[in-house]
Amino acid sequence: MKDENFAGNAKSATDFLGNEWHFNCMGCAIVNGDIQVPGGVIYDGDVAILAADPEIPIPGFLVVNIKRHVRSLSELNQKERHEVADVIACAEKALKTLGISEVTLVQEERSSHLHFWIFPNYAWMTEKYGKGIAYLREISAYARESVTDESKREVLEAIEKVREYFKSHNISD
Ligand SMILES: [Zn+2]
Repeated sequence: MKDENFAGNAKSATDFLGNEWHFNCMGCAIVNGDIQVPGGVIYDGDVAILAADPEIPIPGFLVVNIKRHVRSLSELNQKERHEVADVIACAEKALKTLGISEVTLVQEERSSHLHFWIFPNYAWMTEKYGKGIAYLREISAYARESVTDESKREVLEAIEKVREYFKSHNISD
């Protein structure tokens, strides 16, 4: 996987259902609906949206995209910061209900469009690679290479459960 792809700066992507997408900015394309992310948008807020990572088929691997095309958390106003934190916290609570006890939160300013990865930890990842941020790239590549119909179904089911959680909870609680 090329570095620019990993940072979300690529100009095209093939999602884990096999759909190919072309765009100038993946974050903007997701926000504008130019990419129909697998499983659909989970939460559409005033300033941020939550969806599953389109390319990496890991159940509960979620991405919070800011609606504005900005690079850094430092460019957000207070309203935006509050909603982003609420969405991340609510997503993490939803993942706990799926039995995911630990996540890794990632934000890299080398990506031109501010987004946060909420990366779940599963026992197989620790067994195969070890724990920590250093392994996320390898784990992601492995998940892509070893995808099956069954694992796609698991990802889509997890998306549905997170969506139900958001429907039945107030994100600012
Ligand atoms: Zn953008």
